[in-house]
This record gives sequence, structure tokens and C-alpha cells, in this order.
Amino acid sequence: MSAAPIRLVLVVAAALVDSDGRVLMAQRPEGKALAGLWEFPGGKVEPGERPEETLIRELAEELGIDVREPCLAPLTFASHAYPDFHLLMPLYICRRWEGIPQSREGQALRWQRPGGLRDLPMPPADLPLIPFLIDLLGP
Ligand code: C5P
Repeated sequence: MSAAPIRLVLVVAAALVDSDGRVLMAQRPEGKALAGLWEFPGGKVEPGERPEETLIRELAEELGIDVREPCLAPLTFASHAYPDFHLLMPLYICRRWEGIPQSREGQALRWQRPGGLRDLPMPPADLPLIPFLIDLLGP
């Protein structure tokens, strides 16, 4: 008996943490899957790309910031079975970056303490990352 192959999608995400321990969340815009939900900024790793390169590229495209030097290696990752694919999503912790995060793709942005993330509608894959951030940064 063999199971049907499942498409594996690798997305890298960043917790951008400010000096008050708040995390930057971005709202998925209309027209995208899961529109209106709040997620950690990041995006899909393209073939041939290293995950760190994806993180640098996506944060430059989405927010206009440069995270070339300062992001830590991911300390945790999300793993979630959507109906049509399986998502793996390492979460990088970034405390310093060059530039001021701005919405470059029409997405709403907000800074949120980790405890407040529970009140935001988020994609199911992102939810298990909340307790990790509360442990790391406090509520
Ligand atoms: O951002 P993008 O649409 O390329 O991501 C691919 C898929 O990964 C989304 O359709 C969504 O289902 C999932 N995703 C997620 N949480 C994120 C980013 C993406 O569940 N933070």
C-alpha cells in the first residue's frame, strides 16, 4: 500500500522584534490565499535558493528592510498539513535590521506583543509559534 505523494512547501518567516519586545505582523492582502489573516513576514523558498537568501529577498521586497547580517538561525519551525500541501516554516528571530519596515505590497502592518498575537486571526500554521514567542519574549 502506498500513500499519495504530498506536495511539500518550504516558507521562511521572520519574527522582527523591536526594543519593546513587540513582533511585526503583516496582514495577507485581498486576492491571496488566507486573505485578511495576520502572518509573520516571509515567503516561499524558490528552487535553487538557500532559505537565508529567501528571507533576505522577501523582507526587502515586502518591507524594504535589509536583514543581511543580524537574523539568528531559526530556533523553531511550524509544520502544518493543509488539505493540498504540507507547509514547513522555519521562524528566524531578527532583532536588528537596516531601514524602517514599510508596507511595499499593500499589506497592513502592526507591531504586537506576543501575548496579543492570540487575539489576531492567523493562518493555522502560524498559531503554534505563539507559545514559543511568549516563552522567548514574555507575554
Ligand atoms: O505567502 P505564500 O502565499 O507564498 O505562501 C504559500 C502558502 O503557505 C500560503 O497559501 C499559506 O497557505 C501558507 N502560509 C502560511 N503561513 C504563512 C505564510 C504562508 O500558512 N506565514
